[in-house]
Amino acid sequence: MAGAAPIVVAGAGPVGLTFALAAAQRGLPVRVFEKREGLSTASRASTFHPPTLEILDELGVLGAIRPLGHVIDRIGYFTVADGLVADFPLSLVATESRLPFRFHLEQARLTPALLEVLRRLAPDAVAFDSEAVGVSQGPAGPVVTVRGPSGETRVPASLVVGADGAGSAIRTAAGIDVDDAPYAHRVLRLMTAAPLELAVSRLAPVSYVFDGADSISLLRMRDVWRVIIRIPPDLPDAAAMDPSYYAPIVRRFLPAAPDPLPLVSSDVYGVSKRMARRYRSGDVVLIGDAAHLTNTRGGMNMNAGIQDAITLADTLAAIAAGGTGALLDAWAQARLEVVMGALLPRTDRTVRGSSWLDQVRSAAADPHMARAFLVDACMIDIARVGAPAKGAR
Ligand SMILES: Cc1cc2nc3c(=O)[nH]c(=O)nc-3n(C[C@H](O)[C@H](O)[C@H](O)COP(=O)(O)OP(=O)(O)OC[C@H]3O[C@@H](n4cnc5c(N)ncnc54)[C@H](O)[C@@H]3O)c2cc1C
Repeated sequence: MAGAAPIVVAGAGPVGLTFALAAAQRGLPVRVFEKREGLSTASRASTFHPPTLEILDELGVLGAIRPLGHVIDRIGYFTVADGLVADFPLSLVATESRLPFRFHLEQARLTPALLEVLRRLAPDAVAFDSEAVGVSQGPAGPVVTVRGPSGETRVPASLVVGADGAGSAIRTAAGIDVDDAPYAHRVLRLMTAAPLELAVSRLAPVSYVFDGADSISLLRMRDVWRVIIRIPPDLPDAAAMDPSYYAPIVRRFLPAAPDPLPLVSSDVYGVSKRMARRYRSGDVVLIGDAAHLTNTRGGMNMNAGIQDAITLADTLAAIAAGGTGALLDAWAQARLEVVMGALLPRTDRTVRGSSWLDQVRSAAADPHMARAFLVDACMIDIARVGAPAKGAR
């Protein structure tokens, strides 16, 4: 890391903004370049796990978003034949987290809250309509080429943070390769305002309903239920969103739900697994989707990105306070290992079907196993991996 130039962040998604705010709060100069003209309004992540809520609370944004979302107190597993077969009250992790609940909120409601708090500290920290298109690294430190409304400018940085999403230009510019592994499905998402809690006895606000090896997920948002159905990868979007395709599936898993299910909206999205081979190349580091992508079941990838961001900010603050630059390598290695060793296997196993359900049933039957199950499902054990130990030099 070189000199007094700012840390330059590419991307004002939830991860880039979390990092920028955390860095600014730690007294580190930071500039964010976002290629869009404003924040993304796309409907994507909905799930915030307890350690992520603690991070957002420490950053001073939880108070602003809490009235906008839905507090989740239980996760339930169901079979069509037997109803509720495994019930996990999140109060079981009250000894592990001071915020022992999941929170459901569109990620597009988080980013404005992060931006607002950041702008109070650093009014000019974020530039929109500014795309990072290249990075050069040399002895004087890295320089980012940014393409904006008035052409290209070269911005010297002390460190470049690629938070520019799955197709990261920063990752490419830094020469960091990725490993890709496709999933054998895509996802159909139905948003319904129908009161599904009346159709399924003891329905939990996060429920997985199994029938044989197949399952669907139900997520309670403030105003709607998200019904998540895995579909064959080659099924065209329009065919998947046609009631003639999805209505029989809804009938099969939720026989007592209104038929046809009234929809507020529907969409189809792809899921893939992609892992950067390194988190760091010289004075460039990656966080969030730029470093890792995985399937959406379990709702972990953005959470892991926010956790990348806070642990990076803590590491850089420790270095600025006199710590060794080796802390940054230790952070990069620790985050790589936690994503490969915990995040990817955790999201993969949940799409395995009935063998996974058997494990879940046994876990729910024993309070110690149930707590361990939730610590793992809520990412409590991995959130701060990579942060330097207090007083680390
Ligand atoms: C349908 C769906 C549901 C999901 N549900 C969950 C969930 O419940 N929980 C969970 O944890 N995760 C979930 N995810 C994953 C989550 O949405 C992503 O992990 C999250 O958006 C990653 O944030 P990010 O800031 O790293 O990247 P992004 O959100 O992709 O943001 C990157 C930003 O960088 C900008 N950008 C790109 N290139 C450049 C450039 N060259 N220069 C400047 N700016 C650039 C982009 O415009 C964008 O604003 C879901 C994903 C989908 C698609």
